[in-house]
Amino acid sequence: MIVGAGAAGLMTAIWAARGLVGSDAKIVLLDGAKTVGVKILVAGGGRCNVTHHEVDERQYAGGSRNTVRNVLRRFDVPRTVAFFAALGVELKREQTGKLFPVTDSARTVLDALLGEITRLGVTLRYPWRVGAVERTPGGGFVVRRQESDQAIECRHLVLATGGMALPKSGSDGGGYTLATALGHTLTEHMYPALVPLVVADASRWLADLSGISAHVRVDVCSGAGKRLATFENDLLCTHFGLSGPAVMDASRWLSEARTHDPDATLRICWLPGETFEGVDGALTRFGARPLLAWLRERLPERLARALCQTLDIDPAQPGSRLKKEPRRALAHTLVGMPVHIAHDRGFTHAEATAGGVPLNEIDPRTMRSRACEGLWLVGEILDVDGRIGGFNFQWAWSSGYTAGTALAAASASPQASA
Ligand SMILES: Cc1cc2nc3c(=O)[nH]c(=O)nc-3n(C[C@H](O)[C@H](O)[C@H](O)COP(=O)(O)OP(=O)(O)OC[C@H]3O[C@@H](n4cnc5c(N)ncnc54)[C@H](O)[C@@H]3O)c2cc1C
Repeated sequence: MIVGAGAAGLMTAIWAARGLVGSDAKIVLLDGAKTVGVKILVAGGGRCNVTHHEVDERQYAGGSRNTVRNVLRRFDVPRTVAFFAALGVELKREQTGKLFPVTDSARTVLDALLGEITRLGVTLRYPWRVGAVERTPGGGFVVRRQESDQAIECRHLVLATGGMALPKSGSDGGGYTLATALGHTLTEHMYPALVPLVVADASRWLADLSGISAHVRVDVCSGAGKRLATFENDLLCTHFGLSGPAVMDASRWLSEARTHDPDATLRICWLPGETFEGVDGALTRFGARPLLAWLRERLPERLARALCQTLDIDPAQPGSRLKKEPRRALAHTLVGMPVHIAHDRGFTHAEATAGGVPLNEIDPRTMRSRACEGLWLVGEILDVDGRIGGFNFQWAWSSGYTAGTALAAASASPQASA
């Protein structure tokens, strides 16, 4: 029995069923949502960024990177590409390294997965929300439907219930209650990952630049100024503050730092690759050219003007008139401007969950629970979150494959599962 028919649950079902063809074993997939696979459908702006050209454990945060590496290696990117190709879903690589279906439609991906579970005879029931799970005296499980007296018994149970991001999709954290009822713990902190950030009043002017984007480097810094994480990518100013991949990637690191250091902050380098000395030197060699002309070559004009305004510098003045103090202040701002972040936009606007069931509570060779015999955990319910770019789905495919193949082996041989 697999609870959760998202990416990880579907993948687990497919590989378990493939390994059990011809046996009497029955695979049931339950999902509480009215529509199955919502996250696959909305992913990548409706195009579904299935994976990334280069995936390794350094693109993930949360629990042990060794464990993440071991699981990713069991089902790597070439195998993922081949798996989807065999289901009729050709993937194409974009300049950023992200892989999308050639159809540019997430529906292709979901339909292929659903088609395969149907072909393999997996029973999919939805909406069938699991409200409780208990052990049976025989060592199996009884899974109880929420707000109903329906129940199903099973020998092996997989929790593929996801995290808390986009709760209206059905992944609202209910799976954590099931996991803890069966003996698991949860990480001390759980917070939204890959989430846009709301600026505080002191940085409100950034929200006034809504619609402007720039290629930047975002540093997550401790209150004492130590750089904790760095991301170079695009940033987007929005009506509430900041979004775009560089900010979304940084968001979980800021939240993590703030759990013990409330002064942790973001710094934006508007000219990635430039140093303070380089920019200060360039500003001193301006001559009669207006400051704005130089800035405009490097930044959107509205942003350039706003940066000058925050420093009380007239952008129209010739560079040669810029005094040392404002010149240095401008150089500092261009290469490492602190941003005052009020909070993130919460799980409703997040793409992933940081935290979850600790990785040391599963066996990475099989995804079997170390806390509860017969239980398996896959996907985002675990303490793993990847960067933007297809890494979260790759975790779902790899962990689902690992569990599915191991489940098939365990179900085929009762001794092996004992
Ligand atoms: C807007 C958005 C865009 C994204 N885009 C991408 C992208 O392009 N590329 C990428 O790699 N990642 C992307 N992600 C992240 C990715 O979607 C997730 O990491 C991935 O879907 C996690 O898979 P999962 O199967 O573990 O969980 P989920 O996909 O969350 O599936 C869990 C399922 O369990 C069900 N469930 C939960 N509790 C219960 C219960 N008690 N009973 C029964 N069923 C239950 C839910 O209804 C849900 O269907 C995106 C996420 C969001 C929110």
